[in-house]
Amino acid sequence: MFERIITRPVHVGDLTIGGGAQIVIQSMNNTDTRDVQATLRQIDELAEAGCDLTRVAIPDQEAADALARIRPQSALPIVADIHFDYRLALAALAAGADKIRINPGNIGGSDKVRKVAAAARERSVPIRVGVNSGSLSREIVDRFGGVNAESMVASALESVALLEQWDFNDIVISIKASDPALTIQTYRLLAKKTQYPLHLGVTEAGTRNEGAIRSAIGIGTLLAEGIGDTLRVSLTADPVDEIAAAYSILKALGLRSHGPQLISCPTCGRTSVDLIRIAAEVEERLKSIKAPIKVAVMGCAVNGPGEARHADVGLAGGKGEFLLFSHGEIIRKVPEEQAIEALMAEIARITEA
Ligand code: SF4
Repeated sequence: MFERIITRPVHVGDLTIGGGAQIVIQSMNNTDTRDVQATLRQIDELAEAGCDLTRVAIPDQEAADALARIRPQSALPIVADIHFDYRLALAALAAGADKIRINPGNIGGSDKVRKVAAAARERSVPIRVGVNSGSLSREIVDRFGGVNAESMVASALESVALLEQWDFNDIVISIKASDPALTIQTYRLLAKKTQYPLHLGVTEAGTRNEGAIRSAIGIGTLLAEGIGDTLRVSLTADPVDEIAAAYSILKALGLRSHGPQLISCPTCGRTSVDLIRIAAEVEERLKSIKAPIKVAVMGCAVNGPGEARHADVGLAGGKGEFLLFSHGEIIRKVPEEQAIEALMAEIARITEA
């Protein structure tokens, strides 16, 4: 649907980021990395939800040691997140990280960057250069008159140059702001200036609902312009919720399909069934279904049958009853209290056929 900007492909384990490959969905564990079992459990949950790649914090040597035990049992490739200490980057690489995320400007100087680049190259591990609006140097902020798209892009490209000077090009760039409008401006400018794949995100986006909306605006706008190769929806919530939000954004743009898509009407004065409750319960029950089917739950016969007919399976409300549709055909009338069971049974029949 959208013409994507083709970037230089980067390989993370079996995944490809960039080069027109399918957009990679990421999250970040919020477990203590040193707790190997809890971290592995959460990685399993993320994988089950459809996450492609997860990141773990490596704040100290103990966490790097734990990564060496986590990685062989992990259901997903792992990005090691490192700040300030290049020795932790080296330890994470030795522990089997599939990718590392650093800010080359804050890990202790050019020679340390050289050591990290050499170790990553030796293992064919890419590096994400991550710049945040809150961590720009005073000098760059002064040079560009504040925290703006120009100063953020300059900071990212200076960080990238620190790796390029050691002939390291296996790079992904992220350049996040907590303001969706600034995020959009910044990535637009960056996309014009680099061939490296871009990791999209609105940082510190907020809680589950607010954060998902802010991310959908920031990430969704960029994706619709063809910008972006991988993304993380950052939420103050269970990381598994980030995956559902990521799929909602990608499904809305037709960029990835995953599981069922529920279409439901907003209800109005014509609604004579308890549609809000029924749609919420259907949404909940659809979570256990993996097949990419389209399900419609509509309140009345005005738009209802039309939407229900275009879906794979649908309900259109009447007075205390629903019409059940399947592949555009009316199957039968069902009383309101049996509608959910009838719909789920039809979905099961179709998806298991
Ligand atoms: S489908 Fe019917 S009940 Fe639902 S909002 Fe439209 S007119 Fe109202």
